[in-house]
Amino acid sequence: MSHSLVTMSYIIATILFILSLSGLSKQETARKGNYYGMLGMAIAIFATALSGYVTSYEVLLGALVIGGAIGARAALKVEMTQMPELVAIMHSLVGMAAVLVGYANFMDTSHPLIGVEKTIHEVEIYIGILIGAVTFSGSVIAFCKLSEKISGKPLLLPGRHLFNLGLLIGALVLGGIFLQQTESGLGIVPLAIMTAIALVFGVHMVMAIGGADMPVVVSMLNSYSGWAAAATGFMLNNDLLIVTGALVGSSGAILSYIMCRAMNRHFLSVIAGGFGTAAGGEAAVIEGEVQPIDADEAASLLLEAKSIMIIPGYGMAVAQAQHTVNEITKLLKEKGKKVGFGIHPVAGRMPGHMNVLLAEAKVPYDIVYEMDEINEDWAHVDVSIVIGANDIVNPSALDDPNSPIAGMPVLECWKGGTTIVLKRSMASGYAGVGNPLFVLENTRMLFGDANATMQAVLKALKG
Ligand code: NDP
Repeated sequence: MSHSLVTMSYIIATILFILSLSGLSKQETARKGNYYGMLGMAIAIFATALSGYVTSYEVLLGALVIGGAIGARAALKVEMTQMPELVAIMHSLVGMAAVLVGYANFMDTSHPLIGVEKTIHEVEIYIGILIGAVTFSGSVIAFCKLSEKISGKPLLLPGRHLFNLGLLIGALVLGGIFLQQTESGLGIVPLAIMTAIALVFGVHMVMAIGGADMPVVVSMLNSYSGWAAAATGFMLNNDLLIVTGALVGSSGAILSYIMCRAMNRHFLSVIAGGFGTAAGGEAAVIEGEVQPIDADEAASLLLEAKSIMIIPGYGMAVAQAQHTVNEITKLLKEKGKKVGFGIHPVAGRMPGHMNVLLAEAKVPYDIVYEMDEINEDWAHVDVSIVIGANDIVNPSALDDPNSPIAGMPVLECWKGGTTIVLKRSMASGYAGVGNPLFVLENTRMLFGDANATMQAVLKALKG
């Protein structure tokens, strides 16, 4: 393929990636956005394969088949609830690729460079490996935390900020040594020590972040993986990889900002770790009697209501209750009720988790509202149904300064008529804090698996 044809293909792929990102920003256009992304990626792979840089098509084909098979298997096998872990582990692969490409570039002596070009290339290698290693180890820890292989509690080492600062200074000093030593071939020593430092930093950074702040970590690692890909692009002299990496990096950074704003957190305090746990004192203990109801009583409450708000959370994903919820929504609308869905930005375990589930169940987009849109309007809601959600409807976020989620805006459903909470027990949610909503006077608890209970409610509504 001629050079200009490759450039042209890269430009088309870039445009498709931009269209994909803009499509993915709205539910109505998300499907189309995905198609643009897939087409862009197919063009990118073909153009790169035919660009003349490839020395062995056997290796390329082998890698494509193996990688494609692993990806297809993971995509088919993974449960919707495991999606965040899958995304985290995918980010770690991008980080690992940046580290490996960095070392391969460093050891490759077939294109000797001199002067400024050489220095620039070495800086690219150093930064690429640094970002890649942080992304790799941080993502592995995020994977372990999200899949509950390790505790979500923040690890707060004494003097952790000084420790981080020490690591940063160490990486900078080693960078200087690396640039001076490459002539003598000893650059591998500072490079290897820096890699170890970056790996430790990635582990420490994510270990120090509390469960409630994990959404920011997920989006932040998404951003890092983009910058790691861009660094790989610089090392490989591949413009498309640089642009694509920068697109992922900047959109991840914007998403981190949006998540921080949604949780009322400062990005730096989340990264520094242990946010909300340093206030001193214990989170308030929840006291009071819960009022359990059964599916028939829940159905009666719904039949009496005029306006109903459904608040889905992580438990809806676990129970896969979205289809039954959609059936109930249709039925209630047929009976002349006003039904809406209130979505908290950090509901579930990944950004947009609830929107994906509702879209899968074909819930119409125009009845899905964001938190800010409905928090003013609770006085007009007769009944709200909280389906497997906990932290996102916790009033203590607003009035208990010692709570790990203190300051996070929540869906203030208790300001409406009756709240029906569907969950299996009185267990806490991801942030590990008790929820005073469950013992409020206008709250009714409907215990059981959300899908089974919703089916019982549907049956009662029909009956
Ligand atoms: P929570 O984790 O706070 O609560 C989920 C609730 O669902 C649990 O209390 C559980 O109670 C219930 N549940 C689980 N399975 C079922 C089931 N089969 N049927 C019925 N109920 C069930 O989830 P939220 O969505 O309210 O809040 C999200 C939390 O996750 C926040 O703390 C957020 O910070 C964090 N997070 C979010 C990320 C994101 O990007 N969105 C990423 C990482 C973390 P029980 O066991 O009693 O049934």
